[in-house]
Amino acid sequence: MSLEAAHLCANCGAPIDLSPDAVIAVCAYCGHVTSQEGPGVAPILLRPEKESTIRAFIERYARRKAGHNAVIRDLKFLVVPMWVAELRARTRYNGYRVETRTMRVGSGRRSSVQTYKVYVPVRGTIDERVAVAAYGRKFETIFGLNVVKSSLLMRYDAGSEVDVAALRGWEVISSELSEREALEAARTTISDEHRRRVESMTTKLFDCYTETEPISLKLVLYPVVEVRYESGGKSYRMCVDGVEGATRVLKAELPMTFLRRLSRAAAGIALILASAVAAIYLQPLIGSDLDWELQLIVIATPTVTAAIGGLFGATRATAIQRVERALEEVDFRVLGGGA
Ligand SMILES: [Zn+2]
Repeated sequence: MSLEAAHLCANCGAPIDLSPDAVIAVCAYCGHVTSQEGPGVAPILLRPEKESTIRAFIERYARRKAGHNAVIRDLKFLVVPMWVAELRARTRYNGYRVETRTMRVGSGRRSSVQTYKVYVPVRGTIDERVAVAAYGRKFETIFGLNVVKSSLLMRYDAGSEVDVAALRGWEVISSELSEREALEAARTTISDEHRRRVESMTTKLFDCYTETEPISLKLVLYPVVEVRYESGGKSYRMCVDGVEGATRVLKAELPMTFLRRLSRAAAGIALILASAVAAIYLQPLIGSDLDWELQLIVIATPTVTAAIGGLFGATRATAIQRVERALEEVDFRVLGGGA
């Protein structure tokens, strides 16, 4: 295939975005899929919502959350390539965990508490079926990508064949990841996740090995709207779910309103006041016949909480923006046990 031909749709002759890095592209005119690696997966589409509906939603949301002076500066209607690999992942691990135990030695007034360490072997297998999401671009990202992945992992089965009429007005981004690379990315994600889980259970890990078996692989075209808006002279970003019937903000940067700053500062001040009151009530306990460890706690606690309160109030009151997310940011979902 010549370089020229690679930039034209083989089915309808329309120009397609197939940069040297792109591997799979969908023709925006006829829906034909051009793949640099021969015939491969057929992408599926989560149908986009009507542009006007999304526009109206974004206007309302920005005014409600960022005030009436919020101005929408830029809207990008993008259909982004997302890979979903279903895998069976099995991780065998072997290590140990150190636990500190205490025992009382001696008797009566001479007794004391001693601590000692025990080494508990930790070994086993994680065996589960998972769905892992990978973005089809290598060196680019979009704002809110990880929330898009979370949303994708809950509904990738709802996709249907690419319908070109539904794509009108949307820019279809081609995938730079081939099937093989997408699967490799998914394997890395789940191996890292299993390792992270195992490391949290162990003090020292000797072995941690993950085997994966692919079950299925899909290329899902996911509509999102990238938004840039201004409020009070500052610029903020937003990522809006473009799937039909599911219009919502996936992730948004929002300005801090004066009232919100005040309430955050107040929380810090309340903590400082509570610490002062606690100090007054706890004072008589110092010098009493309580254990010295307890007395130390009595002396330290109000000071420490007051310091935390001050810090908390100060940082939260001066933050100029906050971030709202519709979902937790995850790139995999456990579907069930391995068997
Ligand atoms: Zn075409």
